Amino acid sequence: MDYKKLASLLFPDITKTPEDYEALYPPRKLPEGAVVTRLAPSPTGFIHLGNLYGAMVDERLAHQGGGVCYLRIEDTDEKREVEGAVPVLLDVLGYFGIHFDEGACRADEPGCRPSNVEPSAGERGDYGPYWQSRRSDIYKACVKRLVEQGKAYPCFMSEEEIARIRADQSAAKLDPGIYGKYAKHRDLSYEEVERRIRSGETFVVRLRSEGDPSRYFKAKDAIRGELSMPENIQDVVILKKNDLPTYHFAHVVDDHLMHTDIVVRGEEWMASLPIHVQLFEAMGWEPPLYCHTTSLMKIDETTGQKRKLSKRKDPELGLSFYKELGYFPEAVREYLLTILCSDYEQWRMANPLASYGEFKFSPDKMSDSGTLFDINKLNDVSKDVLAKKSAAEIYDFMLGWAKEFDQAKYRLLSENKDMLLKVFDIDRGGEKPRTDLVYAQQIFAFIKYFFDETFEYESEWPAEVSAEDRREILRLYIEGYDPADDNSAWFEKVRGITDRLGYAVKPKDYKKNPDAYKGHVGHVSGVIRIAITGRANSPDLWTIQQIMGKDMVARRISAAMQEK
Ligand code: GLU
Repeated sequence: MDYKKLASLLFPDITKTPEDYEALYPPRKLPEGAVVTRLAPSPTGFIHLGNLYGAMVDERLAHQGGGVCYLRIEDTDEKREVEGAVPVLLDVLGYFGIHFDEGACRADEPGCRPSNVEPSAGERGDYGPYWQSRRSDIYKACVKRLVEQGKAYPCFMSEEEIARIRADQSAAKLDPGIYGKYAKHRDLSYEEVERRIRSGETFVVRLRSEGDPSRYFKAKDAIRGELSMPENIQDVVILKKNDLPTYHFAHVVDDHLMHTDIVVRGEEWMASLPIHVQLFEAMGWEPPLYCHTTSLMKIDETTGQKRKLSKRKDPELGLSFYKELGYFPEAVREYLLTILCSDYEQWRMANPLASYGEFKFSPDKMSDSGTLFDINKLNDVSKDVLAKKSAAEIYDFMLGWAKEFDQAKYRLLSENKDMLLKVFDIDRGGEKPRTDLVYAQQIFAFIKYFFDETFEYESEWPAEVSAEDRREILRLYIEGYDPADDNSAWFEKVRGITDRLGYAVKPKDYKKNPDAYKGHVGHVSGVIRIAITGRANSPDLWTIQQIMGKDMVARRISAAMQEK
């Protein structure tokens, strides 16, 4: 068979060769030891924690050594594409601190060349196109080369034929797929191929696999070290009928021509590594170092079993979940780093104030069995992250969040800046800062008693205090309330009311002798606290009132006196 002739028959318009493209895309000039990584998502519109997790690995590996991290859009599967997905992806990843040096970008970014694929996005950098759908000629030049060398061939089998083969294989308990004797179009004659093409038949191009399942090859995984796997025997499709390549072939060509050093991708791809190594070999290229990250798992609430996070069942898998609730991006990043690298938490303890960028990230410290994601742990990490922020940083973040997600809250926040700076400053700084702020939505709920618009009673009045006493406590309280009192003078007055109405000034006296008192000072101050904040628990009440001002305190007390 004259394979060269066959290749010209299949690809008459392809004139460039893989070498032409290699000359067009020479290696980047980078500092010694710097690596090139990439994120290569399909534009499905759903951006999940796994994307961020992988992107963080890409970003750290590249940027910690002065390398390049680029964004490539794998849009060869038209069914999965969503218009506008790329700007959203860039926004969400940017929110979490992931920025790309080249690749797909927003149309309004400096240096962006517009894309005809998506008007709101484009690309920048010298190794493009970065949208696979625009690289068809490059892939075809490489496929043409394989056909010329007899390493790939056109296959005209219909879907029905393939389905029949699969059914036979399944009945005979054989491995499914197109290999060996099932690869029926491996050796069609030139004339036969020509005849079929003339009569309008369409074809895919398959790899002619030389693999032998009894032979094992070795490959290195950045997390797991050396792997040994059986060779691939399948004649996998490399070019589809729509002239676009399959993932297998596309990433081989792209990662070669874009000079990717480390391919970080989900472990679901590990099973196809034999195909990928074989394709690199067929092209005569060196494969990159693969880094297969483990799936994010959670403990299922109903079964108590560990399982993969699922798009359908777990809203916390989507990154918009964290953005909408107003998690500080730093908190999510910090938490992901703790589950990503076994040595991160220890490093953080030794370096509480350092930027995460100072941590030396190394893939062999990553988990090679499912990574457990626990939202309660994320919340704990978030509390610590927020405890280190200044009041102004918290205020600015809240304002930005509300502007995007909640106009009513945005108005309250912008109209009450001075007050809120004081609110966020309560017990901040010092040895043991408060750790009750987690994310914007929760923080707002936490401080809502500072606004008449959102104040509500959330706790029950103390059962030890009758309704009549309650009103009396509040009446005496507001009568004596003077914002000029310092904390201890203020509390002396509360004690005075306590004693006057027959409650114990010291809780332990009440506990010792419950019949002698109606309750104790905690119950009396509880009434005042609930009247002012709506809650039985709050930060220091004297401080809260100092921030609220006398008018609001008076309004709250008189409103509470009307309560049944
Ligand atoms: N488009 C593939 C995915 O979204 C990319 C895998 C890779 O990074 O190579 O899973």
